[in-house]
Amino acid sequence: MHQARVDNNLSDTTSSAAELLNEQAQSRVILVCEHASKHFPQRYNDLGLSEADKTSHAAWDPGAFCLSEKLSKLLDAALVVSTVSRLVYDCNRPPTSPDAMRDISEQIEIPGNRNLTQAQMRERVDTVYLPFVSLLTQTIKKHGNAPIIVTIHSFTKIYNGHVRDTEIGIIHDKDSELAMTMVSLAQNQSNWRVDLNEPYSQQDGVAHTLQVHGTDNGLINVMIEVRNDLLETETQIDEMAKMLADLLKSSLIKINQPIDVRAAI
Ligand SMILES: [Zn+2]
Repeated sequence: MHQARVDNNLSDTTSSAAELLNEQAQSRVILVCEHASKHFPQRYNDLGLSEADKTSHAAWDPGAFCLSEKLSKLLDAALVVSTVSRLVYDCNRPPTSPDAMRDISEQIEIPGNRNLTQAQMRERVDTVYLPFVSLLTQTIKKHGNAPIIVTIHSFTKIYNGHVRDTEIGIIHDKDSELAMTMVSLAQNQSNWRVDLNEPYSQQDGVAHTLQVHGTDNGLINVMIEVRNDLLETETQIDEMAKMLADLLKSSLIKINQPIDVRAAI
């Protein structure tokens, strides 16, 4: 029998647009989950979306928050999350991107994002994007020990009618060493199909967090995308978290950047 579907909707009750979990963590990894939540602050009137659209993968990355939380424990890593749906503001996009507040996502139209005024866009940047950026910036600054930025996402198996065979995608910004090492170790060690720069790559604009918080600070960074049908139950999430934690640790050792602060240069 299948376990109940994991449906963790983060922070329905909080008023802050970003949260830091496992603040006292000791390892070099800082996890980031930009699409953790399908929460719509009341002032946006659900952007005029139907209940089905509001909870669909367009609104968030199903399973990504639960996976990030498990990884945070296994890696002893701090975790920074956005607590607002990406349809309000996509924290993995800069304010200049047309995708930051899109009015159509796959086949879903988003009425509340149509013809936004400059003031409306500014309000979302100020109240959703900037608090997230500021929390992540402070977390990196306070860490002080050459943190490694790892962003966690999930993707849907069928996109625009096309079936995606990739089960886990490892995506890099400018520096490909960690991502390539992870893919090559995973292809030898795991039964999952792990691909480099799938189903998205830097060219699709998905490396915004990696670039601003990782590359621009001279920090090692990588993005992990897991197909969301592999994150539907606790058992699946536990299994995936364990595999990814081991993979990340062994890949970091392989590139001479151990996860343990005490072992770092
Ligand atoms: Zn995502």
